[in-house]
Amino acid sequence: MSSQPHIVLPWVVRRTRLPLLSLRCVDCRSESATTGEGRFRVNANGKLLDVWLLVRCVSCGRTSKLTVHDRAPVRSFDPAELDGYHANDSELVASRLLDPLLARRNRFTLDWRGAWRLDAPPAWPGGAWPVRVEVVFADPVPVRPERLIAHGLGLSRSEVLRRIKCDVPLHRPTSTGFAFTVMAGD
Ligand SMILES: [Zn+2]
Repeated sequence: MSSQPHIVLPWVVRRTRLPLLSLRCVDCRSESATTGEGRFRVNANGKLLDVWLLVRCVSCGRTSKLTVHDRAPVRSFDPAELDGYHANDSELVASRLLDPLLARRNRFTLDWRGAWRLDAPPAWPGGAWPVRVEVVFADPVPVRPERLIAHGLGLSRSEVLRRIKCDVPLHRPTSTGFAFTVMAGD
């Protein structure tokens, strides 16, 4: 008997809403902010544009501005992108919020707690081991493979360590696709 897995299961990690931001409020010192409905502010200064993404403190409601573009030449913008900023396009809000450059520039981190889910098929035909699982990320949610696998398969952490052969380190958070093989239990 070959021990090569015949069954490949697809798992998808996706967001259920936009994550909150871990960003300290200058008024109340709370460390949680939200993009809410998602609004940009665009300010024209001659041929230069400033674009900000507005966020609100979840505790006191204070609004602050995250720099998206700083004095950028108008003609450097794709017209569709510029329309999106003016229209508060929700896809554009998501893509700017999830862009690591915005977080680095504005010194915040994303708080993904409760903002994502794992879509996994509940079972597979025959229930035979070993099984190969391929995880893809529809959104850049950082997860620890060992925790995701334990959650997705209903295994304890020690079972994960014993039964899983993973292509990436099990304990290091990742948001890029990976695959693993589940070996039969005892
Ligand atoms: Zn506040």
